[in-house]
Amino acid sequence: MKPPIRFIGAGGAHDLHWGNSAALVEWAGKTYLIDCGFTVYPRLSEKKLIEQVDAVCITHLHDDHIGSLSVLLYHRHFLSKLPPLPLLVGGTELQAKLYTILHFMMGEVERFARIMTPEEYDPHLIWVSTSRQHMPHMPSAAYIFTKDREALIYTGDIAAPLPLLQDENWLSRYSTLYVFHDVAFHRTATHCYYEELHPFLEKVQLWGYHCDPTTAPADNKIRLVHYELML
Ligand SMILES: [Zn+2]
Repeated sequence: MKPPIRFIGAGGAHDLHWGNSAALVEWAGKTYLIDCGFTVYPRLSEKKLIEQVDAVCITHLHDDHIGSLSVLLYHRHFLSKLPPLPLLVGGTELQAKLYTILHFMMGEVERFARIMTPEEYDPHLIWVSTSRQHMPHMPSAAYIFTKDREALIYTGDIAAPLPLLQDENWLSRYSTLYVFHDVAFHRTATHCYYEELHPFLEKVQLWGYHCDPTTAPADNKIRLVHYELML
């Protein structure tokens, strides 16, 4: 069965062809946008999906993850006349920094958005901190959508496999587990090297994103969203 996710973009920070990594998750009757980088608003607008989004999860504050968030918020407020959009953000540090950025750009943030934790929006949505595991100064979060024994994890950018994937006890709670992990095909300090993810392929259904699939080496075993799950 295909996971309930469609990627709007799946490339790295400077990849205009594949676009900024971002996705729409359909979960329990709601549509969640994960991240809103600078190539995301144009795609959503082109596909007439701006009004379909119920809430946005933000993994971290690089421009390829929030670069068109204020434009999206303006569109929904002024053109679509929709109420403030829930921004689901894990952790007080990430929330505070996002608020500061939006306040600087938009003034009265509350007119356009409501910043809250995912659990406050829906208790089946959880987050785990990945702060400083992508970049030393950067708060960040991974998001987990749960429903009975089914879960979908979106890691955001992280330099090593998400630690939760080592937790056998946690993994055993779910019979269906979809994992969307950032992946790099060269060693970097900021993204997860593909070989480090290979051991997890036996335990979970895992796809990679935030990469250029044409640079994948011949021994790569990770399925890439580019060929299966693009919008
Ligand atoms: Zn990043």
